[in-house]
Amino acid sequence: MIATETALKTVSFYVNGKWTNAEGRPVMPVTNPATGAEIAQVAYASAEDVNRTVELAHKAYLTWRDVPVVERVQPLYRFKTLLEKHANDVAAALTMENGKTADDARAEVRRGIQMVEVACGMPTLMMGDSLNDVSSGIDRHTIHQPIGVCAGITPFNFPAMVPMWMWPFAIACGNAFILKPSEKVPLTPTMAATLLDEAGLPPGVFNLLHGDKVAVDALLHHPLVRAVSFVGSTPVAKYIYQTSAAEGKRVQALGGAKNHLVVMPDADLPKSVEAIISSAFGAAGERCLAGSVLVAVGTVADPLLALLSERVNAMKIGDGAEPGVEMGPVVTKEHKARIEGYIEKGVSEGAKPLCDGRAMGRDRAGFFVGPTIFDDVRPEMTIAREEIFGPVLSVIRVKTLDDAIALVNSSRFGNATSIFTGSGKAAREYSAKVEAGMVGVNIGVAAPMAFFPFAGWKNSFFGDLHAHGKDAVMFYTEQKVLMTRWF
Ligand code: NAD
Repeated sequence: MIATETALKTVSFYVNGKWTNAEGRPVMPVTNPATGAEIAQVAYASAEDVNRTVELAHKAYLTWRDVPVVERVQPLYRFKTLLEKHANDVAAALTMENGKTADDARAEVRRGIQMVEVACGMPTLMMGDSLNDVSSGIDRHTIHQPIGVCAGITPFNFPAMVPMWMWPFAIACGNAFILKPSEKVPLTPTMAATLLDEAGLPPGVFNLLHGDKVAVDALLHHPLVRAVSFVGSTPVAKYIYQTSAAEGKRVQALGGAKNHLVVMPDADLPKSVEAIISSAFGAAGERCLAGSVLVAVGTVADPLLALLSERVNAMKIGDGAEPGVEMGPVVTKEHKARIEGYIEKGVSEGAKPLCDGRAMGRDRAGFFVGPTIFDDVRPEMTIAREEIFGPVLSVIRVKTLDDAIALVNSSRFGNATSIFTGSGKAAREYSAKVEAGMVGVNIGVAAPMAFFPFAGWKNSFFGDLHAHGKDAVMFYTEQKVLMTRWF
């Protein structure tokens, strides 16, 4: 088990059951966002590395697909036990490279474990349908068969959980899998691969490559890669979808977001404020489900903002590894500069900053941006429309629930949204009319659950079958319909 910072120094690939030497490949630094210090280096895969990995994965698939599903899930059970045992180590590495708090990191690992638990039910999930005597003496049934080598390309913000939306289901279905996680956070997936190796998964069934567009493009164009799962920003999601589809691959590409939190005048304000704080500023706003536009309906705006400002000023911000910290840094220096650019844009376009997070990051070595709230935001402003992916909350005041629905539905994104209200009627109407994949009622983050499918609408998702839940079985298998008659 990789446990010390020294052992994490150079991160390379796990291919066909072996750890590859980084030699001869370009290496890039991995930083601790809380301190700005380099904590590791990561090797980048070339197109040749990818091609070799795909071929080995395909070889492994040809054997793995014939292993009975009840046996295929046994390494996953062992992996789950190992991950539970090492959950704190994995969470600590996650905090160190991503910046999120220790509590958030542990919760993320727990969500990942739930994915594995659900995938362990594959013997039941993979069952087909059957009907005898569709015609006299003729029976018909469907079977799900694995599709081959599947690739997963994942973002920096959930390096433990998001890969587990993919590979446990793909592998349990009988496929081989190649994971290319975000190059910003290679340590967490590397620890997961170490545990998977210890769990005794046959060589080549799970493979881990690091790198950038070069590695991704090689995966997208390789004919033996049959399915591509992607989670990341919208422009890349669209590119992955279009490129994979043009290559005839099955593809699901989950993209970015701009999530609206609607607050009605009859909402329980103290409880709503806690949920809003956690949604907008938890994980420093680096969540695809983070609330980033607060839609204050009618008379609620002034009392809501008074409570919100008071609570934000009391937030403890610092190194996520320290106890009691509510919000850590953002992932990189470049991302910090990008978020600060959006704050500047908000000011220059005329929004009113109630708190400006730029001040808190000025004298710190880490990549800190404090919680930022803008009042008097107009829907056409940049900060109201674009994904910032940082701790910035834009407040738009509207008169009625209908105005709120029209505003939310004018967004080009449709990942998640929430309404805070004491009225069942308002909640019901909002849930029915709003255009988003996940809807929360008095919930700040309508989080993914392993046993339900998960994906957004509009520019937040490109594809048909969603991540995990029952959709995962459909995504990672081909259906075959058999019709039989015996003379
Ligand atoms: P990103 O799009 O920059 O990177 C995601 C992955 O794509 C990484 O593995 C990266 O190496 C690769 N990549 C980046 N540019 C590429 C290119 N030009 N060609 C091919 N591959 C490329 O995303 P990120 O910054 O790592 O993550 C944040 C984004 O992910 C946000 O937009 C967030 O909303 C989104 N996200 C969405 C969900 C969801 O469920 N919809 C979940 C988590 C994160």
